Amino acid sequence: MLEVKDIDVYYGAIHALKKLSITVEKGSIVTLIGANGAGKTTTLKTISGLLRPRSGSIMFDNVDITKVPPEKIVGKGISQVPEGRRVFPSMTVLENLEMGAYLRNDKKEIEADLEGVFFRFPRLKERKKQMAGTLSGGEQQMLAIGRALMARPEILLMDEPSMGLAPLLVKEIFEIIKDINSRGTTILLVEQNANMALSIADKAYVIETGEIVLEGSAQALMNSDEVKKEYLGG
Ligand code: ATP
Repeated sequence: MLEVKDIDVYYGAIHALKKLSITVEKGSIVTLIGANGAGKTTTLKTISGLLRPRSGSIMFDNVDITKVPPEKIVGKGISQVPEGRRVFPSMTVLENLEMGAYLRNDKKEIEADLEGVFFRFPRLKERKKQMAGTLSGGEQQMLAIGRALMARPEILLMDEPSMGLAPLLVKEIFEIIKDINSRGTTILLVEQNANMALSIADKAYVIETGEIVLEGSAQALMNSDEVKKEYLGG
């Protein structure tokens, strides 16, 4: 479904991604794990068109999207849940969710999806009129996921959804990711929490300083000595 091939991405003179390749099969959960600054966010931003690779290509559903602008990429079915939640703080919960559907004009369907998000996240329904900036961290993460779902994506790009959340809430978020996937949405999940990410993923990649250094089934990576030592706390 998604094929990132040999991309090189730079920030000025900094070579952030080096011939990076990843493939995501339709219906799967793929995770990209790595330490701080390895290039995880850069990878997602490049897929969603916010950054341009200097070389290499990105194909989505057999269409070359390497040079497609970000708003058109959303329209093609790629939606990102940004790192650090990034909701619109001075808009209400409801307005944030409506923003997620801003490219759509199928009013009835939007209404149905909104109900779907409220069903999945009852806490957001209770806080419909609350300013998003006053939500707790966990609620903001739910809102960021809900907003991305309002675009009806085929693939969801998730940037460290567990960041800064209490362990119980992390578990809940990962259950939600699994559930979203089981209803047909493909997931590319970027995480520092390798343990959780590998436990729900089908396939995994390890990124170090802009390069993929290991790849395989999530199960195989979980059993790899290198991954255990570097990413799973021994
Ligand atoms: P984290 O887990 O800490 O979010 P990451 O794996 O997502 O890290 P990136 O944010 O992709 O890492 O950063 C990759 C590299 O690119 C880092 O060395 C970072 O300092 C650098 N970088 C990221 N954004 C910029 C920028 N706007 N200008 C210059 N360098 C940047």
